[in-house]
Amino acid sequence: MLSIRIGIALVACMGALSWALTPSANADAGATKKARDFLDAFTRRIRPLDITVNRAWWDANMTGKPEAFKAKEDAQNKLDALLADKQQFAELKTIKDAGGIDDPVVKRAIDVVYLLLLEKQLDTKLLEDMTKLGNEIESIFTNFRAKIKDTDAKDGFKKLTDGEVRKVLKTSTLSERRQEVWEASKELGREVEPGLKKLVKLRNEAAKRLGFANFHAMQLQLSEQNGNDLIKLFDRLDELTREPFIKAKAEIDIELAKACNVRIADLMPWHYHDPFFQEVPAVFKADLDKIYAQQDLIKLCRDFYRGIDLPIDLVIEKTGNDFAPREGKNPHAFCTDITRDGTDVRVLANIVPNEYWMSTMLHEFGHAVYSSINIPAKLPYVLRSESHILTTEGVAMLFEKNSKRRAWLEQMGVKVDDPKAFDETAAKMSRYQLLIFSRWCQVMLRFEKGMYENPEQDLNKLWWDTVEKYQMLRRPTGRSAPDYGSKYHIVGAPVYYHNYMMGELFASQVHHAIARKVYANADPASVTYVGNKQVGAFMRQYVFDPGRTMTWNELTRHATGADLSPEAFAKDFGGK
Ligand SMILES: [Zn+2]
Repeated sequence: MLSIRIGIALVACMGALSWALTPSANADAGATKKARDFLDAFTRRIRPLDITVNRAWWDANMTGKPEAFKAKEDAQNKLDALLADKQQFAELKTIKDAGGIDDPVVKRAIDVVYLLLLEKQLDTKLLEDMTKLGNEIESIFTNFRAKIKDTDAKDGFKKLTDGEVRKVLKTSTLSERRQEVWEASKELGREVEPGLKKLVKLRNEAAKRLGFANFHAMQLQLSEQNGNDLIKLFDRLDELTREPFIKAKAEIDIELAKACNVRIADLMPWHYHDPFFQEVPAVFKADLDKIYAQQDLIKLCRDFYRGIDLPIDLVIEKTGNDFAPREGKNPHAFCTDITRDGTDVRVLANIVPNEYWMSTMLHEFGHAVYSSINIPAKLPYVLRSESHILTTEGVAMLFEKNSKRRAWLEQMGVKVDDPKAFDETAAKMSRYQLLIFSRWCQVMLRFEKGMYENPEQDLNKLWWDTVEKYQMLRRPTGRSAPDYGSKYHIVGAPVYYHNYMMGELFASQVHHAIARKVYANADPASVTYVGNKQVGAFMRQYVFDPGRTMTWNELTRHATGADLSPEAFAKDFGGK
């Protein structure tokens, strides 16, 4: 829930903005019409700019070209200027404060637009500076390659893509090689650090001018989340996951030490299989990657989503069936709803046929089906989107988990050669994935909170203190480097990561609801959705149809009959 403090703080700190004081909360016949007229006019202005920004964003990430990044920045500035329009905000504030809107959808739309405009009520210069700096740093991410020594190369160096770094961390049994590649990949942090520190300062300055304590506090409140409740939820999660995590990690450490022929006590962060230990190292019997090496991942996704009556053919077509890695392309993956009218949703990806990308593609297409393709056209433009980032992450995670289910693979027509080994590995992987990911989310939430609350502190130390406490990794001796800077989200998706964790809680809770309602109380672990059109019907009715007319809290209750809690999640990793 949005705290009432925002309004008070604004009045106190934004005296320069003059909005009319209006009598409160008496329904009058004109209130709804006034609100509706405002929304119509606002939509007419914002929609073309939204589309231009989305297209420019897409082009920049697909090509990595400086001119594309420039176009993206220009488009974003135009959009920001519209959102910052002071007269428009004053008009909206008057309508909102007057109350009396008798149509709940219109009332919700007004509240949503209010939150959208609130954070843009800053001077244009500060907004532009933040956008420019953000873009500069993002292009460092897009173009960065880890440099390692190579005596055969002309300049004595070899450049590794993100995918190649991951491959070494996944497969090499040589500690020195792993360390070299891991350290090279962290050089990104050093390149990003100066800009990032400036950006954090600008973001905090922006938040303070709007009356918030800092950027972190502002972001939470603007996304209708309460900071205290959030920390309580994460403290509970910490308690719930600590012991199971210690046990899981002990088992993983034995295998990692064996593979590299080192003592468990000598395991370092580079012995884990990804740059941040946010995923389960592939150390168990069956190699899940092998199964996907010969598969067409797009075809599997297409067939799966078609089978549950949430087809993605349009998304594949609009992306031009271009999902392969390429120089200049953003090496990660995302989904974007370009026009928000159900006609143009795209997924950027860099597919290599392995389990990571199977799971990633199921995830991104999960976002794609929870878009204007399935959110009804009857909703106003500003509400024709997911309820909240945590609910769309939750839906994406709900589907992503299938890449580790044998029953899913077999029902999709993929033969699993050694079913017993697969089951042992996959069950462990899924369980450990939830545990490892939850500990990693603790790091991200608490680090970002600390960074924005006190940006002057030793952030290198804060990072490693938090990593040691929650992920229980060993800090390399004497290491003081801005390793946090190599994590994209800290720059490009700030104060976002906790939503992944809450998305996991949402995913578990919705999955359990599907097992109850669609599968007549079946064991959630046995439910794969394959070929069941009722799953699509459930998702549409209980998750997609409301769009953003409901807050994330309301949607969770609507879809699952209960508030968001870690209970279903704990059952999924066998916690209780
Ligand atoms: Zn996602």
